[in-house]
Amino acid sequence: AAKDAGRDQFQLHSLALDEAMRTEAGTRALLEQALQENRLVLYYQPVVSSAGAVIGVEALIRLQHPERGLIPPAAFFSALDHVRLARPIGRFVLNVALHQAALWQEAGHPLRVSVNISTRHLLDARFLEDLQEMLAKYPGLRPELVEIEITESAPLRDMLEAQRLLVACHRLGVRVALDDFGTGNASLTYLQRLPADSIKIDQSFVRDVIDDPKDLAIVTAVITASRMLGMNVIAEGVETADHVDLLVKTGCNHLQGYFFSKPIPAEDVPAWVAHFRPAPRTKDSLHPLNI
Ligand code: C2E
Ligand code: MG
Ligand code: MG
Ligand code: MG
Repeated sequence: AAKDAGRDQFQLHSLALDEAMRTEAGTRALLEQALQENRLVLYYQPVVSSAGAVIGVEALIRLQHPERGLIPPAAFFSALDHVRLARPIGRFVLNVALHQAALWQEAGHPLRVSVNISTRHLLDARFLEDLQEMLAKYPGLRPELVEIEITESAPLRDMLEAQRLLVACHRLGVRVALDDFGTGNASLTYLQRLPADSIKIDQSFVRDVIDDPKDLAIVTAVITASRMLGMNVIAEGVETADHVDLLVKTGCNHLQGYFFSKPIPAEDVPAWVAHFRPAPRTKDSLHPLNI
């Protein structure tokens, strides 16, 4: 009977979770509570270069649920950009990710760590202070090991403000990547006017790039333009060896996706890096932009 009672309780909690996630307010409460109870964790997904080097890792948030285990951000995506949560979450993620980057650097394996920042936090007047404060908290950490990812799909309020922010990040020594590139409505303007270090091509373009000539055309155009503008291009959602071959041949210089690794806990990262062996690549499998 005790076992049955346990199961009932489990179902109750699970139902409560499903219920909560059905509404925006419920999702928000779920995230807010997890932040308060210290049940948010970062996983890290490796980014590698076409030449076979490990470039760094992207920090990706997960919610630790007592019964359901790790819940990915898709379940609470809207809450990440909520007016009351965007900044607290951003500060939490910056703090944890920079601390981790400082630990890896101290341990003798420096890794660049990329942090996703919501548009609302980015446009908050206190964003630069927050970034500065976190950098000051880990004075041993080289700022060029920190990259912020800003999503291009949310329209930035105004281009001048965005430019000013990116320049200020560069002054702090921090790098900037434009995330989810191609899904927004001002892509080419962003490319032309924002001084970003990297462009991340959204996985929706990468998924069918082998079979869909339209996706290949767009990916080729973005890669060529970005590389000619001196930026790194990171393809997201790289799942197969064929993806790797085609993207590298097209001039993409950085790659991220399940083909290399899923997001993994911080403690597994050093071993992953130590064991990573890139596939051998001949010179003619590389695009001239990458030689
Ligand atoms: P994103 O920044 O574009 O991150 C890439 C997403 O693609 C991650 O999902 C990653 O796990 C997933 N992914 C990586 N490789 C593959 C692959 O080969 N195939 C497929 N199908 N997916 C792959 P995740 O971790 O669920 O994060 C989803 C989104 O949530 C992120 O998209 C980002 O926009 C947001 N996010 C994650 N962490 C944070 C955070 O700390 N703060 C904020 N504001 N947003 C975050
Ligand atoms: Mg990202
Ligand atoms: Mg992305
Ligand atoms: Mg994405």
